[in-house]
Amino acid sequence: MMAKNPYLAERLQDFGTTIFAEMSALAIRTDSINLGQGFPDTDGPNQVAEAAIKAIKDGHNQYPPGLGIESLRVAVSEHQKRFYGIEVDPDTEVLITAGASEALAASLIALVEPGQEVITFEPYFDVYAAAIAMAGGKRRVVTLKTPDYSFDYEELASKVNSNTRLILLNSPHNPTGKVFNHQELSQIAKLAVEKDLLVVTDEVYEHLVFDGQSHIPISTLPDMSERTLTISSAAKTFGFTGWKIGWAHGPSELLAAVRIAKQFLTYVNGAPFQHAIAEALKLDENYYMNLALDMANKRDILCEGLEKAGFEVFRPSGTYYATVDIRPLGDEDGIEFCWDLPNRCGVVAVPNEVFYDNKTIGKPLVRFAYCKKPEVLDHAVEKLLTLKAQK
Ligand code: PMP
Repeated sequence: MMAKNPYLAERLQDFGTTIFAEMSALAIRTDSINLGQGFPDTDGPNQVAEAAIKAIKDGHNQYPPGLGIESLRVAVSEHQKRFYGIEVDPDTEVLITAGASEALAASLIALVEPGQEVITFEPYFDVYAAAIAMAGGKRRVVTLKTPDYSFDYEELASKVNSNTRLILLNSPHNPTGKVFNHQELSQIAKLAVEKDLLVVTDEVYEHLVFDGQSHIPISTLPDMSERTLTISSAAKTFGFTGWKIGWAHGPSELLAAVRIAKQFLTYVNGAPFQHAIAEALKLDENYYMNLALDMANKRDILCEGLEKAGFEVFRPSGTYYATVDIRPLGDEDGIEFCWDLPNRCGVVAVPNEVFYDNKTIGKPLVRFAYCKKPEVLDHAVEKLLTLKAQK
């Protein structure tokens, strides 16, 4: 149990410093290779960086419009049409946000009444739990089960009651690397339609899907566009995680509700970066294809290394992350393991237990990020290979 902070509101008492910040600080303190937090160790395309510099020099430095600049809203709309055939009106159905994080917070604050329930899948990205709590909502989780992170439809259906407001989905999924398939998405969609639920879907890893699989936005399924709010961001697609340019799109009334909350969180952000991301979204097919190929190669380097090191590896189909079970190495507790890993071999990872309500399931699972240069991954693997000999 976390020590109580007497100033912190009751609904946030379960939250402390995010594990990503803790583990990044540990990496710096111990001079370890940081495979904890999900940020790339190379910047995105130079022409996109140049576009941001140009935007600053051209004087795009004051508050942009509340919805986001028009050229970026148009670019988001064109992107959705180009990749998924989704028609989005850039004037009424797109909102630019301070990263996907703000879009998530604004959605939950805007859409959920205090006491209403939000269903999500565990393990879940920690922002979800906090955003639900900030909205005063109640979290209900459905477990994604190893080795393939499938879920039980009956369990999902049993979580819905008259107090359920929405399903919060994330595909491709952090931390598991699962890409929800058509059948799974159809089951979720059917339930949402039958029970008249909204779906908020976080698709920030939409372009990091491997092995010929494809990302399916749930809003493209029958009867879903009118009840879905889709969230994405420039962070993972363009490798500028520090710029915090995200967006949401959905039917105009739903989006207008989210806009009200967003407007009083940050109002607007990142004026020059909005201009740069408007350019980035127009990059050609090769950019997007190579992004996924390059990341799949990095996934292979790390996953093969983790297997050699003796872990049970749940090979991801997308994202930046691979989860392992540490028990084959004789370890049991992922939190202890991650705090000790820098001492043992100079690598930092993240314990998945913090992404679970069911701590027993999460306890032996640990997440490694592979969005790093191949030589960094090779070096990390060399270090991880020494673990076996230490037992
Ligand atoms: N959603 C998921 C699933 C993520 O993994 C992340 C970043 N780690 C975000 C949202 C946050 O995106 P942004 O940086 O655009 O706020």
